[in-house]
Amino acid sequence: MPIRLHDSLTRSLRELKPAQPDGVFRFYNCGPTVYAAAHIGNFRTFIINDVLRRLLELEFGLGKVKHVRNLTDVDDRTIGQAKAEQRPLAEITKKWTAHFHADCTALNCLPPHAEPTATGYIKEQVSMIEVLIEQGNAYRAADGSVYFKVSSFADYGKLSRVKERELQATDTVADSDHKDSVSGFALWKAHKPAEDGDVKWPGPRGAAEGRPGWHIECSAMSKAILGDTIDLHTGGVDLLFPHHENEIAQSQCCNGTTFANHWYHSEHLLVDGTTMSKSKGNYYTLGDLTAKGYSAMAVRYALLMGHPRKQLNFTLDSLHAAESALERLRKIAQQFMAKCACTETEFSTYKHPSGIDDWSIFGLSYDALRDDLNTPMALGWLFEWANKFDFSDQDKPYRYEFEIAALSRLMFAFGFDLFVQTEKAQTPAAITALADKRWAAKQAKDFAGADALRKELAAAGWSMLDGKDGYTLEPRKR
Ligand code: AMP
Ligand code: ZN
Repeated sequence: MPIRLHDSLTRSLRELKPAQPDGVFRFYNCGPTVYAAAHIGNFRTFIINDVLRRLLELEFGLGKVKHVRNLTDVDDRTIGQAKAEQRPLAEITKKWTAHFHADCTALNCLPPHAEPTATGYIKEQVSMIEVLIEQGNAYRAADGSVYFKVSSFADYGKLSRVKERELQATDTVADSDHKDSVSGFALWKAHKPAEDGDVKWPGPRGAAEGRPGWHIECSAMSKAILGDTIDLHTGGVDLLFPHHENEIAQSQCCNGTTFANHWYHSEHLLVDGTTMSKSKGNYYTLGDLTAKGYSAMAVRYALLMGHPRKQLNFTLDSLHAAESALERLRKIAQQFMAKCACTETEFSTYKHPSGIDDWSIFGLSYDALRDDLNTPMALGWLFEWANKFDFSDQDKPYRYEFEIAALSRLMFAFGFDLFVQTEKAQTPAAITALADKRWAAKQAKDFAGADALRKELAAAGWSMLDGKDGYTLEPRKR
């Protein structure tokens, strides 16, 4: 079964496949704006894209996928933050880039094959703008800024279905990156010392010194690294309009060919029914959650519990469920590891000695992932297996080597590193000591003692969940 994914342009499920004869799948994912810590809503999008990248690699082979995710390090928001802190732009963006990378590592997101910065591709953006001016798709304004002329591109609005009526009604040019009007949008913004400080570059021919608009950044980085036509372009649903609509207009007018063969947009993470966003202040960062004692892997798991094309309401309860699910998988993996005497690293890269892959064990789970990235269904099938799993079941002829290999691969596809952070490793030593004492009391059938210790743990903010072979500790719900 091929990988099929919803395409926002045709509004249908379509097979993903590389178009170029070299067989390399070219994939561009709009990256973060590095002016503050990314929140877990942003990470929902990046983790979904990471699972996609992993699936593509499993499908087409290592080296046959080129995944680009940019860093937006110059735009209204980054400049605004630098101004507010009275610090150089590069200092702010470097700081938040490092923070983003640390969170990505903790969440086990594979680094993209290229991670261009907008400021690293100014020349490429300027060249594209010059082509657009020459061709009559863009015009210079009196202040030396350059705007794209939406009326020059007949296909404008095809992706987002912006109504023609709406297009005609607006005739002004807004100057914000994010709230451009539909009739024109900025490609190049003339330098405004009061707002931009010293952030400026020489502009396109005949234009003023200044800086690029947000949309042209992605068009230029994608073209420079992946070429004129790419196989897949992705981002969160808010990027569909105007960002991606504008990218299509700029790229197709400049390059004279299709920009992306497939467009995929994942839905937002909500809190209390509204979109998690920095401007609303209703967000959690990964750091907020790990400070409460949750593991980064549980955050990753929880963000995959909903269908990527449906909004997902975030709750701390979902993190509790995620911790328990991961613990169950970890226990199974440990039993396998004992059986094959392999280390954690060996488990993570386990291959069947025959070299044969038997995917059938998790066939339904893989198929769910390949069918429009249905992560909740894939997890459902995985747990259907995990809940029945019993290593002591000697009746069935054990094919454990196939099972280890298949489980290891499935964990790769989801990006679950079962051994990177166990709850115990994160739990304060004093709490683990109390829990060990209580477990021993329970094993010795000293139930009164065990109860007293449970209360002590609860008072310290921890719940102890007893399993068959051991316990798990969780921070108590608020
Ligand atoms: P930004 O750093 O604002 O440029 O956004 C980075 C990515 O996060 C983009 O693909 C956005 O579409 C995505 N995004 C923003 N808010 C949310 C949210 N609440 N849930 C999921 N993705 C989001
Ligand atoms: Zn972009």
